[in-house]
Amino acid sequence: MLFGRAQKNPINLPGKDAEVVKWEYTTCGYCSTGCSIEVGVNSEGQGVRARGVGGADVNRGKLCLKGIFEHELFTSAGRGEQPLMREKTFDAYEPVSWDEALDKTAAEIKRIQEKYGRDSFAIVSTGQILTEEFYTLGKLARGVIGTNNYDGNTTLCMASAVSGYKRSFGSDGPPGCYDDFEHTDCLIAFGSNLPEQHPVIYWRLRQALEKRKFPIIVVDPRVTMFAQYADMHLPVTPGTDVVLLNSLAHVILDEGLEDTTYIHSNTSGYDEFAKLVAQYDPVVTQKICGIDEDTIRNVARLYAKSNQAMSIWTMGINQSTHGSDGVVAINNLNLITGNIGKKGGTSLSITGQCNAMGTREWSSCSGLPGYRALEKEKDRVDIAKFWGIDPEFFPKQRGLFQTDIFPAIETGQIKGLWLIATNPMTSMPNTARIRKTFEKLEFCVVQDAYQDVETTEYAHVYFPAGLWAEKEGCMTNTERRVNFISNVLKPHANSKPDLWIFNEMAKRFDQGKKIKFPDSAKEVFDEMRELSKGRFLDISGMTHEKIKASRGIQWPMSDGADSGSARLYEDGKFQHADGKAKLIPLNFIDNNEKPDEEYPFWLNSGRVVEHFHTRTRTGKIGNLNKFSPTPYMEMNPDAAQELGVEHMSYVRLVSRRGDAVVLVQLTQRVPRNMVFIPFHFHECVNRLSLGLLDPYSRQPAFKQCSVRIENVSQQEAAAVVNKAARAF
Ligand code: SF4
Repeated sequence: MLFGRAQKNPINLPGKDAEVVKWEYTTCGYCSTGCSIEVGVNSEGQGVRARGVGGADVNRGKLCLKGIFEHELFTSAGRGEQPLMREKTFDAYEPVSWDEALDKTAAEIKRIQEKYGRDSFAIVSTGQILTEEFYTLGKLARGVIGTNNYDGNTTLCMASAVSGYKRSFGSDGPPGCYDDFEHTDCLIAFGSNLPEQHPVIYWRLRQALEKRKFPIIVVDPRVTMFAQYADMHLPVTPGTDVVLLNSLAHVILDEGLEDTTYIHSNTSGYDEFAKLVAQYDPVVTQKICGIDEDTIRNVARLYAKSNQAMSIWTMGINQSTHGSDGVVAINNLNLITGNIGKKGGTSLSITGQCNAMGTREWSSCSGLPGYRALEKEKDRVDIAKFWGIDPEFFPKQRGLFQTDIFPAIETGQIKGLWLIATNPMTSMPNTARIRKTFEKLEFCVVQDAYQDVETTEYAHVYFPAGLWAEKEGCMTNTERRVNFISNVLKPHANSKPDLWIFNEMAKRFDQGKKIKFPDSAKEVFDEMRELSKGRFLDISGMTHEKIKASRGIQWPMSDGADSGSARLYEDGKFQHADGKAKLIPLNFIDNNEKPDEEYPFWLNSGRVVEHFHTRTRTGKIGNLNKFSPTPYMEMNPDAAQELGVEHMSYVRLVSRRGDAVVLVQLTQRVPRNMVFIPFHFHECVNRLSLGLLDPYSRQPAFKQCSVRIENVSQQEAAAVVNKAARAF
């Protein structure tokens, strides 16, 4: 007999006895770890099982629980089956043919651009689709439609890492790899809960630790799962990482622990940097960042005295008004200790979405394909020539970021919007304001594999897109590994691959008839290979066949090379014009919305292992959803006692933007003046968040704002929360 949770919500293991007639190779479509997966297909052509690929270097046969159940996505609820159209928002949708939906969308784009100007139509994409699709969308957006207001939802997760890498090293591109765990003598994780967010990368770290012990230091305001497993936990005050990092640098320089040879040979800007960090004595900074001076000194000594040391980070750094500075500060720490481009010595951003890297490399969101910039004449001319168009068609600097596109809709500068595999009604801060923004659009088209994403409510046209392994192409993971997604099954019902949708749209514009839009992912990849020749992200030595056979290859790999490259900057040559990395002095300006008498709690948010991407997919998978179906909040038991709040009761949270009702989970994981909420629930944490923007990356500060807690009728609250939870 089964008891408790086992009886109420048993895990349904994917039928081990399910008949499988063939296993198809692919790559996981959730997070940026990039695990190789095989999908088992039965004699009726259905995907019935998933398993990790033993020979793949990334995951060596392992998968996390999202990957284990990924084959269930093919038949999950809420998939789009047919294009839909309506005249006005909130009218009933009518199913239409693809031609009708595409013709209507092309006509609306042209109407809006003719009436209000080319940039009045915006496009916001994703980190979810395949790299060949990103490249094609970029060609369509930049070369055919010609809007400069084109960006990706990666602005919500990775923009600070991109910006920080560019400022320090002259280019985007994470320099390290998972193999660095095998060589490092010390690892600091900033704002990264690796065991929950990237379980298989964490497993790689544990494997390295089992062979050879080295210290793990976790910097996070919350006692995360990673913090519990670490040797040292530094519970930094939210939004003050730059202060802590400047202070670590202060100790290293003050005690002469820096790598002077590396600094002299490979960096510029040392004098200004040293002058600035001289002001960040731990005696002073401990009061700002909340870490005592002895701990700061100990960590600085440990890191600098290690033969090789590495830093990793995720959203705890990126999602801040100091996100880009936080990344630069991590790079500074690694540059002054000579820990870039060597085995076990690196500055590695752990990216978020499965193909966040693919969009950074090839989508043209922030410029032109292959890390080219709109601001550089040569790059504009080269791409215009390759595509066969006039270089003057391109703008001479990038347009708005995603987070600036919504305010531009609010002010009437943007009138039309195309959203691709992104769900801003849940993912953007200050949901109430975003809702009003959508109501101002003259035309909105949503392209997504799921018809029931919250943002579709505001669309005039809906394009049902193929999902993950219903298509073929590549994705790039956190360590620059390009891996292959096989077309395991046909797209669901009358949904179509994103590549097909972009190509069909291009045909409806005169400029699209001038440019070649190949039908197959393989031909598109060949264009990308050609455009990458001799560049920093050279992939000219790769083919789809080679990538699949190798279970992924890390760029750069030039034509004729036998293998990819595990690390960047091994020769100490960087992408700035002088070939050096920049040490950048970082002043700290405290602009966080901090707790006060009226709103006495920090509101922190993050991801839990069962969730991904606003739960459009994970909310449909029973074995994921059953363990985290309901919006909840972690609260410290001492604070709860003071307010008379009980474990598993409902409360209302109120911020200066709005309110949300949540179930309380009492835990010592959060300090007394903080609450934490998983951020993928609709109508929950982002009703409260402020989302001030980083000045460089325009990434929102999701994690630093303040709230108060109010009592609420338990019965009414239960109804609200259950409505917000997906019913599975
Ligand atoms: Fe997929 Fe990431 Fe889990 Fe690997 S760790 S199976 S890539 S979700």
